[in-house]
Amino acid sequence: MGGDVLWSVANRVPTTGDTGYGKMCSMSIQYDLHSHSTASDGTLTPAELVQRARRCGVDVLALTDHDTTAGLEEAACAARGEGLMLIPGVEISVTWQARTVHVVGLNVDRRHGALQQGLAHLRRFRHWRAGEIARRLAQAGVAGALEGARARAAGSIVSRTHFAHYLVEVGRAADVREVFRKYLVRNKPGHVPGQWAELDEAVGWIRAAGGQAVIAHPARYRLTASKLRRLLGEFRECGGEGLEVVSGSHSHDDSHAMARHARSVGLMASCGSDYHGPENPWTELGHLPPLPRACEPIWETARWPAGGPGERRAVGCD
Ligand code: AMP
Ligand code: MN
Ligand code: MN
Ligand code: MN
Repeated sequence: MGGDVLWSVANRVPTTGDTGYGKMCSMSIQYDLHSHSTASDGTLTPAELVQRARRCGVDVLALTDHDTTAGLEEAACAARGEGLMLIPGVEISVTWQARTVHVVGLNVDRRHGALQQGLAHLRRFRHWRAGEIARRLAQAGVAGALEGARARAAGSIVSRTHFAHYLVEVGRAADVREVFRKYLVRNKPGHVPGQWAELDEAVGWIRAAGGQAVIAHPARYRLTASKLRRLLGEFRECGGEGLEVVSGSHSHDDSHAMARHARSVGLMASCGSDYHGPENPWTELGHLPPLPRACEPIWETARWPAGGPGERRAVGCD
């Protein structure tokens, strides 16, 4: 089992006895297994995120910041007070066949050396890339981008999102999406090709830290079906276990297509909002459709700390 999972049960589910689990069976447990805080590019602190998750009816929340676990301790403390189960997670940036793919690690031991060394390497790359993005933006006539992005990054990483917030504030675009479209994606002035972790490295760090690796928001990569099958096959071969079938950025059709892929490759299904903060009103914590029928939820595994047999049947499937 992974790290410091906290199952704080105040006023909700008794910790011992059959009656307790029986009660749990009858409840529908709301999972949200992908979210961000100010430790990466979210705008709520880890404690604020946990409080909001609770208000939104989330029972089990994974904090999965980009390439850092720095927010987990604060989130775990807040979860204890809120009666919410916090799954310690991370979202690792990977380069696969010249594309960026995100791999979520769930239930990781944040103190594990191999995981931390790997993440530290990615943060060094981010640090270099931030300077490079700013240099290129300066050439395109946007001054002060590094300072601007850094000022908006509360944690240990600078992400393109922080650059986007700065560019919106200095009037270069109307919103974050427009900044990405005009400046930060391939063939645009502030784009810097990434060299993130290899797929097998990222999965290896997560597994070494006792966690489960999940391909995040698979429909976002716009891969052909055969290319996606190839990615999922390789992922499975190097020890990946899950696919984010339901995501805040997936349509109903995307989720059903991903459920079929998960099933045919033999991956379990996960669900997560990819919440970044209240200024994105189209995503909310825990506001997710159920997993399509026939999915095998990742929380059903023996290693999942809350995975009692009754609970397995009670949640997630329509
Ligand atoms: P980075 O890891 O620094 O390259 O930044 C990636 C992050 O930027 C993602 O996790 C999203 O939060 C955000 N992002 C990527 N593409 C877009 C987009 N088109 N519109 C808004 N946010 C985006
Ligand atoms: Mn992000
Ligand atoms: Mn992502
Ligand atoms: Mn994310």
